[in-house]
Amino acid sequence: MKNKGMLAIGIGLVVLFVGGCVAAYSLGATKPQDQVKTKHAAQLPKSATPDNSNLILVNKKHPLKHELGFKQAEMNGITISQTIQQPLENFMNGAKAAGYPATLVSGYRSKAYQEQVFNQNYEQNLSQGMSHDEALKATKGVIQTPGSSEHETGLAVDVMTNQYWDKYHNLEAKSDQTAGQKWLIKHAPEYGFVLRYVKRPEGRKSTGIDYESWHFRYVGVENAKYMTKHHLTLEQYDQMIKDQHQN
Ligand SMILES: [Zn+2]
Repeated sequence: MKNKGMLAIGIGLVVLFVGGCVAAYSLGATKPQDQVKTKHAAQLPKSATPDNSNLILVNKKHPLKHELGFKQAEMNGITISQTIQQPLENFMNGAKAAGYPATLVSGYRSKAYQEQVFNQNYEQNLSQGMSHDEALKATKGVIQTPGSSEHETGLAVDVMTNQYWDKYHNLEAKSDQTAGQKWLIKHAPEYGFVLRYVKRPEGRKSTGIDYESWHFRYVGVENAKYMTKHHLTLEQYDQMIKDQHQN
């Protein structure tokens, strides 16, 4: 009886503790929370503003409604936004100078192109005997819905070290085991890029996308360094910026 009593008290304390956390978390307007928020917000870089076009958030929950009108540039036959031309060139040159030449595999994809790829896959599923719902579900599992691919911004690139690319010609997570890809991931922020879809457990939960050791997104040097230092995904960073500017 005594043991059961102790157990009950123990469980009660655990529930109280967990409950306390949830309550503290959900009560965004309490004073200590506000103080934490302000303190954190004050540390945000100057360029971390809602109107900074380098910080545009594109994902399934925030799809582009139309094509973004930006100046395009070309690198090795691949289209990118002119905004990232110089930073990307510096990034690739930096890697090369360090002994790790890399390949720019993919850059800008238009919404129309994304639509075409999406529809082709869907039609293929239909022709294999799937119903409309089944085909759509299967396609969505492997291809970003048109409008929700970050490549449509021109600010995202797939870059892979030649150590891996020359051998496998495939974008695979395990490329991060090569010294070259390690270099790219480590030094990207110095050139204004972040590894967008991180390996950390909160990565997938926050971005909705599995780890991609090759997908880099330009956000500017200040923001890239800050996000990397504080282990923030763009989704989390975007929320912090919005919170700060609401006050
Ligand atoms: Zn990509």
